[in-house]
Amino acid sequence: MVYIANEARYETMTYNRLGRSGLKLPAISLGLWHNFGGINSVENGREMIRTAFDLGITHFDLANNYGPPPGSAEEMFGQVLASDLLPYRDELVISTKAGYHMWAGPYGEWGSRKYLISSLDQSLKRMGLDYVDIFYSHRFDPDTPLEETMQALDHIVRSGKALYVGISNYSADQTKEAVRILNGLGTPLLIHQPRYSMLDRWIESGLQDVLEENGVGSIAFCPLEQGVLTSKYLNGIPDNSRAKSSSVFLNENQITPQTLRKVRALNQIAASRGQSLAQFALAWVLRGGKVTSALIGASRPSQIKENVDALQNLNFSSEELERIENILRD
Ligand code: NDP
Repeated sequence: MVYIANEARYETMTYNRLGRSGLKLPAISLGLWHNFGGINSVENGREMIRTAFDLGITHFDLANNYGPPPGSAEEMFGQVLASDLLPYRDELVISTKAGYHMWAGPYGEWGSRKYLISSLDQSLKRMGLDYVDIFYSHRFDPDTPLEETMQALDHIVRSGKALYVGISNYSADQTKEAVRILNGLGTPLLIHQPRYSMLDRWIESGLQDVLEENGVGSIAFCPLEQGVLTSKYLNGIPDNSRAKSSSVFLNENQITPQTLRKVRALNQIAASRGQSLAQFALAWVLRGGKVTSALIGASRPSQIKENVDALQNLNFSSEELERIENILRD
């Protein structure tokens, strides 16, 4: 059936400006790291993408290596774009990245100009696009001069293959340097994509200040700690979970009794606010407006619906914040 987007899709979503740029992102964005690969159902992937867009999620985040196998998430996204979303291309912010291992030999990973430009060309082909909206250096490369990596990003924008550039997983100092170089080149850094959740708060010690001082936006990945900060694991490890799946990024051993104690205590505060644990965890990431967008993953459409409802209550009382700090400190 031909897809026609929900006419009310812009009525409830919140859109936040990325730093001092002209671009806004939905407060919740959808990432295609898991569940959109060659091993997954295209029908479910399509349903999740439709559900997201119908709720006002205009931003879809990819990377060259998402799958498995690597590249297949971009292929699936390209397929859904062609069948469903192409008429809406100008309403979408599509991002991809290069940095992690993608192909054999010395030019298939890290941050050289050679790798970044050829990887983006491959990504565009897989998605059937002429350009992406945001192209990221996925990780800092200690062996390539940062000037070269940033010059490659600048070149990519000037050649029309991306509209904006971002970096991901760079430390506060590396980010400061990237900002300086990119400003000199005339292609300002739009966005940083770091990991951030109640259980991983590294960006609070330095990176957030650098981003704020330089007018750079941010999108937090794994805000639900891959599902640990949802009701999913409160009573054991269900079969239909990432921890039980073939994913190497989350396994049962990571869900320790200590983590579960915290998660259960947080769940009580969530309930007292009338939120699910997932909604509460997303609201916390977005609290105070420092993070532009929370970048969720999902394995089914209902999760996306539940998560977007987090936006109905992003305010925390000082007492709630203190109770959360006490739990996280334990
Ligand atoms: P999350 O922390 O949001 O975890 C998503 C997973 O949590 C889902 O796949 C699902 O897992 C579970 N989940 C989500 N919502 C619910 C809910 N309401 N109830 C129960 N379970 C729920 O994010 P991801 O780890 O998926 O990462 C999100 C995105 O961030 C990626 O797609 C990617 O775009 C980006 N990313 C970027 C990285 C980088 O280096 N730049 C690294 C990692 C991610 P289940 O299968 O168990 O249902």
